[in-house]
Amino acid sequence: MMIFEEQTKLGIPLHPINAAVMPVLLYYNTQAALEMPPDELIKPVLVALIASLFVYSISCLVFFAFIGKEKVHRAISLGALFASSVFAIFYSLTYCVILDGIFKVSGSSVSVMATAPSWLPVFWLLAILPVVISVLKPVLLPKLESSFNAVLLVLILTQIGVLALNCFTYISICHSVEQLQLKEMDLLKAKKSDCKPDVFYIILDQMAGRDGLKEYLQYDDDWFYSELEKRGFYLSKKSLSNYPITRLSLASSLNMSYLDKYQTASGSDKKNWTMMNKLARDNQTARLFKRQGYHYVLVDSGFAASNNSNITDEIKSGTFSDFFSERILRSTIVSLFPGAEEAIMSFARNRILNQFDYLQKMEKCNTPKFVFTHILSPHEPYLFNANGEPVYFPGGRCDHQWTTETRKAYLAQVQFIQKKTLATIDVMLAKNPDAIFVIQGDHGTHCSDYVSEHSPSDNLLNERYSILNAYKVPSIIQARLAKDIEPVNSFVVILNGLFDYGIELSPDKQIYSSYDEPFLFKDVSERVIRRREKD
Ligand SMILES: [Zn+2]
Repeated sequence: MMIFEEQTKLGIPLHPINAAVMPVLLYYNTQAALEMPPDELIKPVLVALIASLFVYSISCLVFFAFIGKEKVHRAISLGALFASSVFAIFYSLTYCVILDGIFKVSGSSVSVMATAPSWLPVFWLLAILPVVISVLKPVLLPKLESSFNAVLLVLILTQIGVLALNCFTYISICHSVEQLQLKEMDLLKAKKSDCKPDVFYIILDQMAGRDGLKEYLQYDDDWFYSELEKRGFYLSKKSLSNYPITRLSLASSLNMSYLDKYQTASGSDKKNWTMMNKLARDNQTARLFKRQGYHYVLVDSGFAASNNSNITDEIKSGTFSDFFSERILRSTIVSLFPGAEEAIMSFARNRILNQFDYLQKMEKCNTPKFVFTHILSPHEPYLFNANGEPVYFPGGRCDHQWTTETRKAYLAQVQFIQKKTLATIDVMLAKNPDAIFVIQGDHGTHCSDYVSEHSPSDNLLNERYSILNAYKVPSIIQARLAKDIEPVNSFVVILNGLFDYGIELSPDKQIYSSYDEPFLFKDVSERVIRRREKD
């Protein structure tokens, strides 16, 4: 708050800084606080701060040039007003997105975004009006400046207050989850072991199993399974995920448990995803490896549940941007410029390629490591053709029934990711032949239905739980893998096999919940026909 107090003493208006940062806080508080940890704000706030200083300085320099150096204060005031106007215009679309979200939550059918093209240009003209008035009538400048300072100060302080409440909720949920996790950890005792191979857990988002790909996309990837087998992998033939949604799936497999036992820690708002982010970020698997002297290395996915951790020893991060920053950028008027979406998608493409690069560069060291990476592909957006060349397939998520084009784009991406995964494994195995690998899909596809239905069709359930599930483990552990092991038990078998932790296996189950009600868990195992076909 120092900057606000110093404002009057220095005579330098600070409202442009507030005008640049406040919308980022507002967007987080209204659109993302339930699903993104507060640390996701650090990068966009930092960028907004730097951008505000840059635009502010340039504006002042321009007014210096026009007004003359002898009227320094007037030039600064006009520069400040102009910079704030620029940020009002820049975030004008963001305000529409926020208003739309508020109407949606209140059950209104009003769509601000639909009418925006007709009145946004008027808003932009109004935003620049204070600058024009101040140039024409300099006497009004002090009043306009104090109004801008006061309004933006109130707005940013309000958002900081709301953010503080969101942080408090976040910290208390994380604390409750961690208490439960540590209590479980205390019960687990291990034997000493000298066998400490590096362990790589690679999640390929939405990589369906071969039965699912054959049935729903008429794609035969037996070649990929043969190639994995040639490299010593054990493949679960008809594996099923335990959950249908990314964060639930990651939280479950990384904690070797179903999630209902953590429900008491989830907080009062049943749409708050903090618990899942916390479980995926600071997971029991990593803790148990660390207890054996392993380093926990996280290869940054850019996605809130798998881009950070309080217990990691190292985070490999190749790109500055992440999902949340890109979401904010998409909400601004940047998205109105031709080529903007293509440029934003290139960030995601580079992030995926960087993840593979980091895996390939990993050397075998004296200290064993547990490496986790969540590669957000072949899940949409579609960024690669089958040869790995960049493609531009706008449209982001495909929540409803897939079109012929969507299916083609998904399959091309599947083929590229399969080839890239094999090439990466070859490089890694050449350096680290005894390493353990678990390569899994977190859930299958959803060609046939919208995944967030409260009452999913049997067809969707059968499609959605089919996943790739591949293991390269020492033979003694492979002997313990059940024929169609499910992700909830992957690391139970590996940790028990390596260190005799005595962790209990969970029964195989398919649990359903939707994005709207992630904690309304329903056991749908009996409706998954593929399960009955397993034997
Ligand atoms: Zn996913």
